[in-house]
Amino acid sequence: MIRSLLIANRGEIACRIIRTARRLDIRTIAVFSDADRQALHVREADEAVHIGASPARESYLVGEKILVAAKAAGAAAVHPGYGFLSENAEFAEAVMEAGLVWVGPSPASIRAMGLKDAAKRLMDEAGVPTTPGYLGDDQAPDRLKAEADAIGYPVLIKAVAGGGGKGMRKVNAASEFADMLTSCKREAAASFGDDKVLIEKYIERPRHIEVQVFGDSHGNVVHLFERDCSLQRRHQKVIEEAPAPGMDEATRAAVCEAAVKAARAVDYVGAGTIEFIADASQGLRADRIWFMEMNTRLQVEHPVTEEITGQDLVEWQLRVASGEPLPKRQEELSIDGWAMEARLYAEDPAQEFLPSTGRLDHFVLGRGIRVDTGVEEGDRISPYYDPMIAKLIAHGRTRDEAIEALVETLEQVEVWPVKTNAAFLARAAADADFRAGEVDTAFIPARLDSLVPDSMPPEGVWNMAAEAVLASDFGGPSDAADPWRALQGFRANAEADWRVALRHGGETRTIAVSEDAELAGVATASGDTMLVFAEGQAFAFKLPGAGGGAAGGAASDGSLLSPMPGRVIAVDARQGDKVMKGQKLVTLEAMKMEHSLVAPFDGIVAELNAAEGAQVTEGTMLVRVEKGE
Ligand code: ADP
Ligand code: ADP
Ligand code: MG
Repeated sequence: MIRSLLIANRGEIACRIIRTARRLDIRTIAVFSDADRQALHVREADEAVHIGASPARESYLVGEKILVAAKAAGAAAVHPGYGFLSENAEFAEAVMEAGLVWVGPSPASIRAMGLKDAAKRLMDEAGVPTTPGYLGDDQAPDRLKAEADAIGYPVLIKAVAGGGGKGMRKVNAASEFADMLTSCKREAAASFGDDKVLIEKYIERPRHIEVQVFGDSHGNVVHLFERDCSLQRRHQKVIEEAPAPGMDEATRAAVCEAAVKAARAVDYVGAGTIEFIADASQGLRADRIWFMEMNTRLQVEHPVTEEITGQDLVEWQLRVASGEPLPKRQEELSIDGWAMEARLYAEDPAQEFLPSTGRLDHFVLGRGIRVDTGVEEGDRISPYYDPMIAKLIAHGRTRDEAIEALVETLEQVEVWPVKTNAAFLARAAADADFRAGEVDTAFIPARLDSLVPDSMPPEGVWNMAAEAVLASDFGGPSDAADPWRALQGFRANAEADWRVALRHGGETRTIAVSEDAELAGVATASGDTMLVFAEGQAFAFKLPGAGGGAAGGAASDGSLLSPMPGRVIAVDARQGDKVMKGQKLVTLEAMKMEHSLVAPFDGIVAELNAAEGAQVTEGTMLVRVEKGE
């Protein structure tokens, strides 16, 4: 068994790998960028090596720097985690050439599955059913259009080098094809440096079904059953589960067998995932499930498989990389109960899922279920990396039990002042159709409005805040400096209830609190703010007189501030321009997301303080619009 391991990643996956390595008595070496000096993965590893500046392009994506770190620390092996360099065949090769053990499949396997068109061709040859479509080298727009017409609309245009849901366009009718092709190719060239596309039939009632496979260097390949990852937003997984609802034994056997066949076709060693798309219009049927792509690495959602099989997949990876045979044979593996995972993101669903950065002043995730996280209270969410901060993983005897545990935990998430999608996830998991197993990839888009919670507090939360104020008034420390000690609660008259005046955002209310009211939620005072956590959301209340306003967005004088640190990628207005309310003025990129600042009202661009390519800090005034004709 390898004795030391460098983890070429960060965040929750680095922490996850460290946990298993520690149990196996393997020395762990973390790498970190400037922004991650104090990060949890650095604190948890036995050693840590600095590899460069904060942008991933200057640190986590630079293979040479990671190899230098591995040499310096005397590491015997490199685990790439997921994302970053995990599917980079050149890096895998360089690791091996440096005499280190690569915890992953061979560069040849990575290459064979790296491009979606080549992978599909290979699967066709191996007898694995693939989504009907066009995989040709002739990329002339007319030819692509003719192929799409022949396949029949709707079709999906996909960048062959694509990943992470980028470089994909659904085309509903022939008339849209040319425009969609142009924009897909543009995005593919910008994101992957390769604008080649393939065309696929768009599967109706699509469900994303994937199979965990594992191979060793002795020629063994097993599967660890399927996962369902149909709950997606913008082609990105949000909630995943194992097994797949509505999967019967015969269909499971067929799809898992096809996955093993796919892995064997590329002599696969290590952990991999075969992704399929299923047409679920008539339930899950073996003849309606097609190969989509293979991810040649550990997958974000691997914990649900670990929960139902009782196996530690990182341990399997380390054993296989050390030359050991797979820990279990196929017939020794079985499904125990049901598991669900929700991805907790630092983002604000109410603001179009804008990533949220800053210090985690308050960070309490549920107890009782598995939490894989890369941060703790007091840590900072920087704007440089993926906004996923934790995964909540529930396991139950039945699907209902798993859902219940997941919803309960999500509703108890307490995070402040960074925004999260906890309430959004809780609503999705609690949805009646989801409970009934009625999942497909349109589930979230079709319900977006009802899944995104209102950022204004409901009645009950105002009451909770008021009760908490009264409680702190009476039961709190008798410190004169405590702003809550001052008289916040007062009786309107002898018989009436207690009254408390509170402010939330721009709204002030006087709330009557009956003396026997129960304090149902979680409320806690932090400085001059009373925080209420309810159903996964956080609400901040202040006394009517207290100061402080929100940074970012539009101030009433028409100033547009940068809501987070980021890079200006487009400036669509010039000083003196006449602009209309809602018109896009400046676009920022941060945490892989684009965010546009728009004119708050009709007017003139009075000040412009943004240049394309400029790096800006949070709260920078970028544009000021003045009212006028
Ligand atoms: P990526 O590399 O970005 O993960 P995939 O090929 O795995 O790209 O597709 C991502 C998602 O897009 C799938 O999970 C599914 O929701 C949707 N999708 C992909 N192909 C099809 C298809 N042919 N029909 C319908 N939906 C599809
Ligand atoms: P797929 O979407 O098919 O699983 P990708 O390689 O695009 O394939 O996605 C891997 C996912 O992991 C992406 O959502 C990516 O942004 C995310 N990711 C990569 N590295 C990290 C990390 N260290 N912490 C959190 N998320 C990460
Ligand atoms: Mg995929």
